[in-house]
Amino acid sequence: MTNSSKSASRPTVERSSRSQNPPKVGIVSLGCPKALVDSERIITRLRSEGYQLSPDYAGADVVVVNTCGFLDSAKQESLDAIGEALAQNGRVIVTGCYGVEKDAIRTAHPGVLAVTGPHQYEEVVTAVHDAVPPLHDPFIDLVPPEGLHLTPRHYAYLKISEGCNNRCSFCIIPSLRGDLSSRPAGDVMREAERLVQAGVKELLVISQDTSAYGLDVKYKESEWRGAPLKAKFFDLAKALGSLGAWVRLHYVYPYPHVDDVIPLMAQGHVLPYLDIPFQHASPRVLKAMRRPGAQDKTLQRIRRWREACPDLAIRSTFIVGFPGETEEDFQMLLDWLSEAKLNRVGCFKYEPVAGAAANELAGVVPEEVKEERWNRFMAAQQDVSRNLLETRVGREIDVIIDDVDEEGALGRSIWDAPEIDGSVFLNGDTDVKAGDIVRARVAHADEYDLWAERIIG
Ligand code: SF4
Repeated sequence: MTNSSKSASRPTVERSSRSQNPPKVGIVSLGCPKALVDSERIITRLRSEGYQLSPDYAGADVVVVNTCGFLDSAKQESLDAIGEALAQNGRVIVTGCYGVEKDAIRTAHPGVLAVTGPHQYEEVVTAVHDAVPPLHDPFIDLVPPEGLHLTPRHYAYLKISEGCNNRCSFCIIPSLRGDLSSRPAGDVMREAERLVQAGVKELLVISQDTSAYGLDVKYKESEWRGAPLKAKFFDLAKALGSLGAWVRLHYVYPYPHVDDVIPLMAQGHVLPYLDIPFQHASPRVLKAMRRPGAQDKTLQRIRRWREACPDLAIRSTFIVGFPGETEEDFQMLLDWLSEAKLNRVGCFKYEPVAGAAANELAGVVPEEVKEERWNRFMAAQQDVSRNLLETRVGREIDVIIDDVDEEGALGRSIWDAPEIDGSVFLNGDTDVKAGDIVRARVAHADEYDLWAERIIG
């Protein structure tokens, strides 16, 4: 959002002053894709009531800030965003993960109109009604059946569950979002169908723990296309794969039943892509993180997956400098990484999160050691990534186009998720549009991206 007039007051917007102009809401969405989906639900609901979206602070009658509270740095970013919205607009409603810390928000910014937590869609909408009442126009129905999305039209996030049953010691998400709560499979499929009918070419399946989908409801069946469908990871992946869009699975854990979806990937029903947050490889550190620690078995499992589906790309995230991590633990992580040869990797330096159990652990790693380990980790992974991407040179691949300008097109391969992975550059190719899926031959690679030429005809 851009600058607008400064006002720290809370003007009441009267219906008469707005005459019949629809009220306008600005939204600032911070945090992860799950928070983005929450923002989409909020705006979908508000648009269905006749509100319009404002792309800037100046045009908004009220601004909703959807916050992230995962790390202290994310909390600070949220406070800064709230401060900016207050300074630029003056009428601000706060929601999202950081919203559970109402007191901290109100202390920093006493001028906010309301503070609600994650998934409290009703409360956010009520707060918007209080700030700027909706126009009651029975002819206003501005919402397409697939809802409204903040991602480009050709891809969309599909949230299949909320919450998490795990209790990783560095994470406060279960206390923010509660235990696992899976959506009925029929509901997920109907949403996915509407998205595909509306032109979405790529569905990004998200949750806190995608492979645990349905565990809480004992894999309960629900109706889809006149037949029962189980709320189960494999069954849902298979059904999604039948819709004709790319299906990408995020936040999967290497549980044994994940083996079952690998044939779906080999057969082309879902993308050969798994986003698995491994976090570490040393059994000692994993135990302190309260995460499963059999990384040798995981290596064997990765090997078997690749035998069954040689094209499989694995993305992961890791934390270095966790309390108690020794040089030996870290070296174990580097060794594991060179064995596992993961395609895409993100690495975070450990940061304590207020309220997380890991804060009580001994052996705090000094910042300079974290920094040094992070640099070594990234250098090691760059070599792995470069070597893997070089094997793609000369291959014909499918590329989904994300953006086109006068210099050419920018897209992604089946091995790259939007925002977090690499790109495929089609230099000089302007004869395509966002959402096209084209065939191209890879000409060049570096440690992150590919360059390719479209195969015409
Ligand atoms: S799996 Fe662990 S890190 Fe992920 S949301 Fe659950 S508790 Fe947090």
